Amino acid sequence: MSSAVVGRVGNSGSVAERLGGLRWSDLFASLYGANSPEWQRTLGTWAVLFHAEGRSNAEMLAAVQAISRHTPVPQFPTQFLDALRLELRRQDSSVREATEAKRLAEIAKPIRCKRCGDCGWVVGVPHVEFVAGPEWLKPRRSMAVTCDCGLGRHIHGRWENAQPEAKKVLSFSEYEGRNPHWQTQMELRRVEVAAEMAAHEQQHGAPSWRRTVEAIVRRYANADR
Ligand SMILES: [Zn+2]
Repeated sequence: MSSAVVGRVGNSGSVAERLGGLRWSDLFASLYGANSPEWQRTLGTWAVLFHAEGRSNAEMLAAVQAISRHTPVPQFPTQFLDALRLELRRQDSSVREATEAKRLAEIAKPIRCKRCGDCGWVVGVPHVEFVAGPEWLKPRRSMAVTCDCGLGRHIHGRWENAQPEAKKVLSFSEYEGRNPHWQTQMELRRVEVAAEMAAHEQQHGAPSWRRTVEAIVRRYANADR
């Protein structure tokens, strides 16, 4: 039994995958000949200890297997325990580094979806219950729909399958089917807002927040170049 297990332990791929449903304490006993009643009691105690620390069987299997590459291989229970802790710490930090590298790569990525800016949602489109043909009815409510890009479809799926209560949300293509005039409506609304602002300025002078808004718009315009 022990040689069969050791034979399957290679250096590539996930240890847990290759070892299937094997318990880490059984792998330990097989690899290091820890079959005496004393060892079985010790392994039982460690199992309780590591379980309490939230360690999974997969993490423990990887640590047990990694110890076999230590020189010298530990001999006494306390040395094994130190070695297990060392390997678990190494796993933790490599997971942290991989996560950090992934996060940095994610930040550095340019925006791929122009429609949603890679957030998965298209926001501020005219609400389907407040449109009549090309007209966006007052009070001109808006809504958010999920984008048709990969991220948007992923979010859509999560909403539709949300537990305990599935939420209904329109995808962008469904939305466009129900309100094909959304672009015209939004364009008209922009013209209307500009006219409202111009009228307001004629009556009350330029509001102080106008400059702030313009500065923000300029910043976004520059960011596109
Ligand atoms: Zn998108």
